[in-house]
Amino acid sequence: MVPILEHTPAELRDWFVQQGLPGYRAGQVRKWLFQKRAATFDEMTDLATELRKQLSEQFQIWTTHVAQHRQAADGTEKLLLQLHDGEQIECVLLRDDKQHCTVCISTQVGCAMGCAFCATGLDGAIRNLTTGEILEQILQLQRLLGPPGKMGTGPEPSRTGARMTSSGEVPVPILPERLSHVVVMGMGEPLLNLDALLPALAAATSRDGLGISVRRITISTVGLPASIRRLAQANCQYHLAVSLHAAEDALRNELVPANRGFGIAAVLAAADEYFQLTGRRVTFEYVLLAGVNDQAEHARQLTRLLRGRPALVNLIPYNPVPGLPYRTPSPAATAQFVEILTAGGLNVNIRHRKGDRISAACGQLRRGERGTGD
Ligand code: SF4
Repeated sequence: MVPILEHTPAELRDWFVQQGLPGYRAGQVRKWLFQKRAATFDEMTDLATELRKQLSEQFQIWTTHVAQHRQAADGTEKLLLQLHDGEQIECVLLRDDKQHCTVCISTQVGCAMGCAFCATGLDGAIRNLTTGEILEQILQLQRLLGPPGKMGTGPEPSRTGARMTSSGEVPVPILPERLSHVVVMGMGEPLLNLDALLPALAAATSRDGLGISVRRITISTVGLPASIRRLAQANCQYHLAVSLHAAEDALRNELVPANRGFGIAAVLAAADEYFQLTGRRVTFEYVLLAGVNDQAEHARQLTRLLRGRPALVNLIPYNPVPGLPYRTPSPAATAQFVEILTAGGLNVNIRHRKGDRISAACGQLRRGERGTGD
């Protein structure tokens, strides 16, 4: 059986033509998969019964199954997906209060970058994900969204404002949620798997795919200069987020060992080129680790480094990972860091991690399942 999500639109169209069927049927199937959330070919009711049977004999839709599903009170949901070869990956659905949903997806099993504070990096990289496996995470997460405009019962009155009825049930308006953003920030270094990632994102953004705006796709990287340039040349208009975490090489080499191969100056030169070629402002991610990179001097170094760039700095107070020595910074240290950056003219945003209670930090669930985490 061939995983249908591994097929490009052209390949799927060719398959239909080879069967003596009109090529436009491929678009119908893609709409069922991406927009109408069909879980089986049988649900594709505008296709003839014989064709649905033929499709299910030839193709499989799902190659993963949900090994774990965790939900947090803030609406965040996390899936641990088991792949066909027994490996596991994580992906996360994040909700905001405007019914917009963001999916955070993985691109590799494990990761070779070895960032000192990250659960995924602890075990190294095992393999790249395929295009279909990357897309399947989005579709699995999309299945968690409620159908628009219906009422159900559920446990989340705080999110919906619903009240308890006399029967004790909580009527929950299932909100017309929709996937609006994709962040490629899960397990793995996305720029080491661009060959599989770019076709997956093309499906996520195409009109007969998920139809998500290219401007709402964010790719996060430790900053591999050559790959940033390749992405810039492709001019896909995706938003680039560079995980900096330190403003001078000695500390960055410790926190992001991949930095030893190229250094911060080369990362910034590539990021500048990305902005020049695409016009998209680059975000610099900075995980604040108590006592390690959250002091006033670190903030001043970062201000000097980024001053004059049309950049946004995303500060992320660390979410502790069992087995690792790093701690969350105090609110006072975070406030002081923000103040110095802002006074230096940088655009700053603080991003608190959602879903802390469901091990939402990258790689924690997988390590827990393997008996290597909490
Ligand atoms: S933070 Fe990202 S790049 Fe670094 S080890 Fe973890 S998954 Fe890899």
